[in-house]
Amino acid sequence: VLVVVGAACAGCGERITPPEQVSGDLVACFIDVGQGDACLVRCPDGTSMLIDTGPAHDGAAVIDSLHAAGVTRIDHLIFTHPHEDHIGGGEAVLAAFDVGKVYMPRTSHTTSTYEHLLEAIQAKGLTITEARAGTILFDLGNLTARFIGPTEDYEAVNDCSAVIFLQYTSRTFIFAGDASITAETDMLDGGWVAHADCLKVGHHGSATSTGQPFLDVVKPHDAVISVAADNSYGHPAPATLERLEGVGATIYRTDQSGTITVTSDGTSLEVQVAGARAEPGTGQQNNRGAVSQWSVGCSRQSACA
Ligand SMILES: [Zn+2]
Repeated sequence: VLVVVGAACAGCGERITPPEQVSGDLVACFIDVGQGDACLVRCPDGTSMLIDTGPAHDGAAVIDSLHAAGVTRIDHLIFTHPHEDHIGGGEAVLAAFDVGKVYMPRTSHTTSTYEHLLEAIQAKGLTITEARAGTILFDLGNLTARFIGPTEDYEAVNDCSAVIFLQYTSRTFIFAGDASITAETDMLDGGWVAHADCLKVGHHGSATSTGQPFLDVVKPHDAVISVAADNSYGHPAPATLERLEGVGATIYRTDQSGTITVTSDGTSLEVQVAGARAEPGTGQQNNRGAVSQWSVGCSRQSACA
């Protein structure tokens, strides 16, 4: 909470106490929901943000992950765009938790999943805040989150994706939804894009997202791809992996590592996969065999707790 204690007129000789700084760990948990997205961000001020809820068949896994993390209230619930792999678990999540604010981009999408979600939001007495570049989610001084996309209305639903820029002291995150290079170009042209230490890669690593101009500005240290093994879309695309490697990013994939947890105290940043800690930048490769063994032996949500 931004608190200015003893603020007084400058030049009166009275001491002006600087705004209170948030401290502690911020934890971003990329929940393994197979082919889909769901990321829980637990902020050091005790609030929680959930970005997407995975597909319907993984709604229970998302709820379990939040319970395991001790979350009882979702302060900010963002549905990046109305595709099933992002909103399918939404109804179940809304039923299971106290929710503060719901954010969605403006789209003209009509599916029964989307309609049911809108009804569930209304039934809970919640209204939807439009996700649009420039809208602030929260601003606590050294901990801020704002939308940097969409910058305009698009016909392509993926391009309507809410894109979030999160900053905690000197560490930064971008959650790119399923935005394609078209939307990235508009965000770049609008001056919305900046370096992010951790990038939730757009559209599950599709070739039509995460373009070179976007990467040249973002220059992520760690790149997280939320994707199912052997998915029918061929995600992630080899070309996207090459572009990410080309800017020096360490790539983490939920199909290989299960749930991926990124922890930051505002200065350092640490990535935890499948029970093993990997210091960023060490080039450590995820061991597929060990990961699958872990997936069988442990519940998905345990890595999130
Ligand atoms: Zn998607």
